[in-house]
Amino acid sequence: MVEKTIWQPSPNFDDRGDGVPTDMLVLHYTGMETGAAALARLTEENSQVSAHYLVEEDGTVFQLVEEKNRAWHAGVSAWRGETNINARSIGIEIVNPGHEFGYRAFPDNQMASVADLSKDIVERHGIQPTHVVGHSDVAPARKEDPGELFAWEKLSEIGVGIWFGKGWRADLTRPSLHVGSEGDIVQRLREHLRGIGYGVAEIGLFDDELSVVIKAFQRHWRPNLIDGVADSETQSAVEEIFKRSGRLTPLAARLT
Ligand SMILES: [Zn+2]
Repeated sequence: MVEKTIWQPSPNFDDRGDGVPTDMLVLHYTGMETGAAALARLTEENSQVSAHYLVEEDGTVFQLVEEKNRAWHAGVSAWRGETNINARSIGIEIVNPGHEFGYRAFPDNQMASVADLSKDIVERHGIQPTHVVGHSDVAPARKEDPGELFAWEKLSEIGVGIWFGKGWRADLTRPSLHVGSEGDIVQRLREHLRGIGYGVAEIGLFDDELSVVIKAFQRHWRPNLIDGVADSETQSAVEEIFKRSGRLTPLAARLT
């Protein structure tokens, strides 16, 4: 267990529902000016929002909702064909002003606490690396958190989330795909994104909706440029993460 967790109960939770497995971990940033303001909002009844945990910039961990209950953090969202994300996930809010109020690096102490807490959660619940996501992954059209400064690679080193294989290098020889592009190569891109878990349509040319999903992918796996264009490096990264994610299967089918 993670030491020094402070219990700060939120009234904003309900039952997960019968037979729903807890098989996802969703990471957020708070997107408010201070951690104190975020903690107040997440524990105040009128807000109707919560998370299981909040991690302050100094590394202090608050628990707001018991893991057996459903916290209200993901909103309208989808991953691997499932849409009841709150019901099947643990949610962690990481204090950061976010893109609206001055997005900044996550301090080392905070990142260390997030890593310890996440590792503990995925081990206790048997959450697969493919099921550790950012809010922007499950709600690409609405959300940007936890954002491109979040250390996904570090988390993957302790078994939390998917990252590239050792020695992997992007293929930089492919033509760029952008809004308006079409053809088999766009269909394959859609198929791979769906295989990773993103909620994209199976068929269609490269439209605005696909561009938004590419941005979400880039925030997580190609953070140095987030422009919604599937350039060669992005395509190659999508393919690699798809390969490491396995085939598209409903979450329930992955349970043992
Ligand atoms: Zn969020």
